[in-house]
Amino acid sequence: MKTKLHLPELFGSQVFNEGTMKERLSSASYGAWKRCVTEGTSLDISTANEIAEAMKQWAVERGATHFTHWFQPMTGVTAEKHDSFISPAGGGKIIMEFSGKELVRGEPDASSFPSGGLRATFEARGYTAWDPTSFAFIKEDSLCIPTIFCSYSGHALDKKTPLLRSMDEVSRQAIRILRLFGDTETKRVTAQVGPEQEYFLIDKELYRQRRDLQMTGRTLFGAKPPRGQELEDHYFGAIKPRVAAYMKDLDETLWALGVLSKTKHNEVAPSQHEMAPIYSDANTACDHNQLAMEMMKKVADRHGLVCLLHEKPFAGVNGSGKHDNWSLGTDTGHNLFKPGSTPSQNARFLLFLSAFIKGVDEYQDFLRTTVATAGNDHRLGAQEAPPAVLSIFLGDELNAVVESIIHDTHYTDAEKKMLKVGVDVLPAIRQDNTDRNRTSPMAFTGNKFEFRMPGSSLSVSGPNIALNTIMAEELEQFADILEKSTDFQADLHHLVKKTLTEHQRIIFNGNGYDGAWLQEAEKRGLCNLKSTADALPAYIAPKNIDLFVKHGIYTEAEVRARYEIHVENYATVISIEAKTMIDMIRHDILPAVSRYAADLCARADSKKRMDIPCAYETGTAKDVATITDGLMEQCRVLASDLEKMPAGPEEAMRYCHDTLIPDMDKARASADALEVLTAADYWPMPVYSQLLFSV
Ligand code: ADP
Ligand code: MG
Repeated sequence: MKTKLHLPELFGSQVFNEGTMKERLSSASYGAWKRCVTEGTSLDISTANEIAEAMKQWAVERGATHFTHWFQPMTGVTAEKHDSFISPAGGGKIIMEFSGKELVRGEPDASSFPSGGLRATFEARGYTAWDPTSFAFIKEDSLCIPTIFCSYSGHALDKKTPLLRSMDEVSRQAIRILRLFGDTETKRVTAQVGPEQEYFLIDKELYRQRRDLQMTGRTLFGAKPPRGQELEDHYFGAIKPRVAAYMKDLDETLWALGVLSKTKHNEVAPSQHEMAPIYSDANTACDHNQLAMEMMKKVADRHGLVCLLHEKPFAGVNGSGKHDNWSLGTDTGHNLFKPGSTPSQNARFLLFLSAFIKGVDEYQDFLRTTVATAGNDHRLGAQEAPPAVLSIFLGDELNAVVESIIHDTHYTDAEKKMLKVGVDVLPAIRQDNTDRNRTSPMAFTGNKFEFRMPGSSLSVSGPNIALNTIMAEELEQFADILEKSTDFQADLHHLVKKTLTEHQRIIFNGNGYDGAWLQEAEKRGLCNLKSTADALPAYIAPKNIDLFVKHGIYTEAEVRARYEIHVENYATVISIEAKTMIDMIRHDILPAVSRYAADLCARADSKKRMDIPCAYETGTAKDVATITDGLMEQCRVLASDLEKMPAGPEEAMRYCHDTLIPDMDKARASADALEVLTAADYWPMPVYSQLLFSV
């Protein structure tokens, strides 16, 4: 008989969490760890040794044989290098060992990770260092220790280090503001993040027959199926048994790892689904999202499925995003983006809101770059995801409040008075779930902002580093002004009013998919960076470099290194796609359609000999042959253009966008036209209707 799942026991059973530490460490060591996490004090080696020993014992009891520092290099996925616990004990025996030194610091021979030129090869070895704020866990018999990854010269080579720096910085500046409101208790303000993850599930056997999916994560060919998402019957529809079994397995796997997987449902496109966790601090949320993506793939494999995390696996069908829900919470339990019930709470809310609005307006170009990838270019602005233009949706009620502050006008008809920040209570702002403007790239949803531009495969560190740092900058400016104020109430009102007035252009409550909005946005002077190639240069705009350098998030060298990695990644992705396309056209599609046309001709011949009509055979053969020759030529042009790829990374990025992508679009159009004409048993790969409707 199947044993019943006991969720509270399962949850976090593979995690060396706070409860486990309390149980297994001496109170002195537990206290030292706790102080390290809450106050940023350092751990001495004897404490580290004790924690390492306890961790090892706990892990070995659960069958672990290895340990690994688990880190997030600039590849956007996680990396691990496993060492076993074994140590020779004489007489051919071993003991299981793990020291504080091994816990705290590791030196993977990590010279092959992208560094954007930060590491000369002679000092290629970076080191990893334990992040005690994120719990260790067991995954596939290895104790995984979350770590940061740096070069010997101290440069961050990963996505966690700057995230932690940005979390510290936004906390520091937010606390300055809180003190001005008389809050003497809050010690820490933490960026809270809940990333909703979309994905596709397809059958593994079909996946194996598509080289494009295997090489690039998306289909490079495929005519639209007779039925796509037009019926809109998939969204929130009943979950099919095979998918339900997958989701159950995924939930249980994630729960054991301490991931708060909460919501699961079908998404808009056939075969598309979503998982949303309960939000947590930004660092844990990023770690957990990486784990979730990894487990989504591994669990799929166990079910004869493949999980596609690409932003656009199928042309003409909705793509996948990752909504980054973001807010700021205090260690005393307040959400700083929650409108309150007293004038003072509301004043605080309006100040944080103004800072956010100002920051998004001033750094809209940088926020755009944080979601700029080759894959996401297929989504943004394609009537399924927000446009490439940043704007903020506030909803009717909050917008009325903003208007009232800006224009000194009444904010409701009922109450004939003007809103004074810090003096008046705001009208109740409902947490409105019906009016969910899904077309906005940055929507206020009652007590948080939902950044909807990130693509499904992206690490959420980038967007959250940006949000934290931008917020830190604006709060710092506000604190600098208000700390000098002699009339706090009046100066606060003035500051909020001035800020909202100057940055109102970034607020847009209408339909983001509407073409008219793009014209309006242009009039307002908002940036419309349509593609990655258009957006990435903003990564190193002087004002953006200054922002990160000023707050100690990146050095200038680190910003430039990251820029270089993103630029190179784009060109690499596009050239892999181009090569895969050429390969499939030459080796699969052209031979198949040629055989088909030849067979049609042979059949036409034999019919002609018997004086039987053969218009179908000759007509189709002619059409196929004509498009086939066109495709051959387009493939030749693509191959020859690919050889002319410029050497410089920036030139290569531009060239991919301006030359290779249009070449690929043309070849694809011909191939898709051939698919429509070709008899099913000749076509060399599974088509969309099979891929999308077989699970
Ligand atoms: P949706 O309708 O978009 O699914 P939800 O209210 O379920 O909206 O929230 C989606 C995500 O936002 C979840 O991961 C949730 O935990 C997270 N979330 C909720 N409140 C906050 C908050 N204050 N800060 C950050 N994320 C939050
Ligand atoms: Mg959402």
